[in-house]
Amino acid sequence: MSDIETFREEARAWLRENCPPSMRRPERGAPTPEVPFEPTWGGRKETFPNPEAKLWLERMAERGWTAPTWPREYGGGGLSKEQAKVLAQEMRSERCVPPLVGFGLTMIGPLLVEHGNEELKRRFLPEICRGEIRWCQGYSEPGAGSDLAGLQARAVVDGDQYVVNGQKVWTSYADSSDWMFCLVRTDPDVSKHNGITFLLFDMESPGVSVQPIKLISGNSPFCETFLEDVRVPRDQVVGAVNDGWTMAKALLGHERTMIGEAFNEAEARNEMVELARDYVGFENGRVADAVIRDDIARLTMDKVALELTLKKAKEAAKAGHQPGPESSIFKYFATELNKDRSALLVGILGPQGLGWEGEGFEANELDVTRRWLRSRGNSIEGGTSEIQLNIIAKRVLGLPD
Ligand SMILES: Cc1cc2nc3c(=O)[nH]c(=O)nc-3n(C[C@H](O)[C@H](O)[C@H](O)COP(=O)(O)OP(=O)(O)OC[C@H]3O[C@@H](n4cnc5c(N)ncnc54)[C@H](O)[C@@H]3O)c2cc1C
Repeated sequence: MSDIETFREEARAWLRENCPPSMRRPERGAPTPEVPFEPTWGGRKETFPNPEAKLWLERMAERGWTAPTWPREYGGGGLSKEQAKVLAQEMRSERCVPPLVGFGLTMIGPLLVEHGNEELKRRFLPEICRGEIRWCQGYSEPGAGSDLAGLQARAVVDGDQYVVNGQKVWTSYADSSDWMFCLVRTDPDVSKHNGITFLLFDMESPGVSVQPIKLISGNSPFCETFLEDVRVPRDQVVGAVNDGWTMAKALLGHERTMIGEAFNEAEARNEMVELARDYVGFENGRVADAVIRDDIARLTMDKVALELTLKKAKEAAKAGHQPGPESSIFKYFATELNKDRSALLVGILGPQGLGWEGEGFEANELDVTRRWLRSRGNSIEGGTSEIQLNIIAKRVLGLPD
């Protein structure tokens, strides 16, 4: 047996033995009370949906498999990309839910692995791997979204600290996070991209306050974050002072790849066909409604095209090519595809797709309509679709302004 096949056998055996039953997704259908819909985000405020969620996190973290490819000395699994892929495949086939999710694993962690100094790596990466710290992202401001480099939150040096003043907005989960990674202006007298610094701070620091924003779906995943004379030690800068834009772009590359991959991974089975079977019906072994059948076929083909392109990018990553502007292609295509797919799922439900709770909306147990509403935000967060198209035009295709 090849090394990789030996690893597969070992990983499968370990998962079978160590993944608690309630941490496995049901074959099909809605999450049950035992299998939580909300994944574990970790951090000081985490309330685990059940004791097995905690146990599952602890077991995976001990093995370094919450962050499989990060170096072992920082709490990761030290796996090669190929081994990590095999582990992900085995987790999917064993229907194991991820033990931990969040911006620590997908955004700030990878940035620290690449660009953090030794002290920051040793301080934060093991905590991230163990799920002891939850992060939020302080990029957007009321006057700086697509034009992120126009941000105004100001950090001024005072001894060995920065004093930060300003406002962030659309800060996802700021109210349940422990730390923020953010962009602040440290030099207002140079061109806007050159006076930005990438800073980390504890959300419990005096002067930080958060205000949740309620959305159309009834959920409130966002906050406004106000920063008033917040004191941040100067050694909590990632990268060089005034070079935060380089860090911001590197992190956005990870964020966009993560968003693109999330929708690709999310649906191993074809939920569109499953729902159509139940709510539209089958005739002669195929979906009865020709228009819906056509839409399902088109979106399924698009998904396969995305999968193959992602696979190509992963091969390039194995050869040392880090995500660059190409991550905009995945971000754009995956989020637009997810919007189309979510809209089709609502259409398949028919009138039952018009609401999400109470009598008459039983079909919506899969949260189809809320997911459709949420999908609208996917093509805005991490940079809007229009901005991705601009990046693809300029930096991937080399088209003139
Ligand atoms: C679900 C969700 C989660 C988010 N989480 C976070 C978070 O955790 N942290 C954080 O910092 N931010 C977060 N955001 C904010 C997000 O990054 C911004 O909403 C986004 O960058 C767009 O900025 P804006 O809302 O200010 O829109 P604007 O920049 O004002 O854009 C408005 C419209 O104009 C278009 N537009 C703007 N400039 C151009 C241009 N040059 N060419 C063509 N069209 C253009 C845009 O595409 C958009 O349609 C989140 C947003 C969403 C929806």
